Amino acid sequence: MSRVKSLKCRECGEEYPIEPINVCEFCFGPLEVDYDYDLIRKNISKDKIKSGPLTIWRYKDLLPIENQNIIDIGTGFTPLTKATNLGNHLGLNNLYIKNDSVNPTYSFKDRVVSVATTKAVEFEFKTLACVSTGNLMGAVAAHGAKAGMETVVLFPSNLEQAKIVNSSIYGPTLVAIHGTYDEVNRLGSEIADNNPWAFVNINMRPFYAEGSKTLGYEVAEQLDWSVPDHCIVPAASGELHTKIWKGFQEMEEVGLLEKVNSKMHLAQALGCSPIVKAYNNNESQVTPVKPDTIVKSLAIGNPAAGSYALETLKETSGAAVAISDPKVIEGIQLLAETEGIFTETAGGVVISAVKELAENGIIKPDELAVAYITGNGLKTFEVVESTVESIYSKPDYGDLKKTLNLK
Ligand SMILES: *Cc1c(COP(=O)(O)O)cnc(C)c1O
Ligand SMILES: [Zn+2]
Repeated sequence: MSRVKSLKCRECGEEYPIEPINVCEFCFGPLEVDYDYDLIRKNISKDKIKSGPLTIWRYKDLLPIENQNIIDIGTGFTPLTKATNLGNHLGLNNLYIKNDSVNPTYSFKDRVVSVATTKAVEFEFKTLACVSTGNLMGAVAAHGAKAGMETVVLFPSNLEQAKIVNSSIYGPTLVAIHGTYDEVNRLGSEIADNNPWAFVNINMRPFYAEGSKTLGYEVAEQLDWSVPDHCIVPAASGELHTKIWKGFQEMEEVGLLEKVNSKMHLAQALGCSPIVKAYNNNESQVTPVKPDTIVKSLAIGNPAAGSYALETLKETSGAAVAISDPKVIEGIQLLAETEGIFTETAGGVVISAVKELAENGIIKPDELAVAYITGNGLKTFEVVESTVESIYSKPDYGDLKKTLNLK
């Protein structure tokens, strides 16, 4: 008997065997992993999880993997830090930062890729590939290297240099496309249709997406097996937002949590906010946009899981917030200056969203809120480079004293 039953169409419910496929043949809906929760409930426990590895693999019972050959470079179990200073500043007494910027390749994408790569090895693929908005390409190149696979990454050519270098160093074939992410994605789908490659976010997407659930499991475990009143989650495809919620619900389903009732808030950059727009206009489908923002990691104009993010927002009474580029930079600076955490642009979106939700009274002063910080500031340092102000001195104590006004 297996914990993993099938792949199931999120639209029509049609079931498929566990294979590297992601689209329903009947209705073109996306496929999702379906589990036998009765079986999982019998085998899982808080003690078993606690005695597991200090990585996402402590939750293996809830991940779609059969093999023992896990491709793990140390992803997950990142800090959940009480943000006392930032909380004081925003009038919030129970604000926490889930700091996923300290994963092996410095973003939450290591979670999804560790699961997708492990599954790709199980399927005996030799080539690991992705289409990337920047963080994914680093995670794929690193995990592919660890798995001994060939790796190919496709990305829009205007990405931040640090993201390209942070992928290149692991030895992939780098393919820069002169186009938007959505155009790169279309090319990736054509390759995936015609070549035996494991594209982590195309044909491997059902398995990849499951890795995001661990950002729900971990926060619940770190809060001593309870869920926050509020989660503030950045959205590109919208998958992470829906999967954190799925993670909480699964933990309730298998008996690890009492009734879960978090409000799942969603944050995007104003220059690429198709999910926010659809939600606030009360639409059930997302209308694609052409991204125009410094927040490149979230710049997906046609979000694959957009309609499911809308469902999660509705189901949990979440709010959807769009943040302008200047406010993104303010958010990055505020988190750094109050909590000592340097995040990338997506984190700037999240912090400014928390500020807005606190100011609007959506997050009340004593409620427990978790801000998901999903990427590292060193990868997008260009956006704050112009704020650097050094004081210059000669290598001479007299001059230094004068410069610093010392006695
Ligand atoms: C990819 C990414 C996200 C969002 O992921 P989706 O699941 O596509 O919504 C959030 N933050 C960062 C830093 C990312 O790289
Ligand atoms: Zn279907």
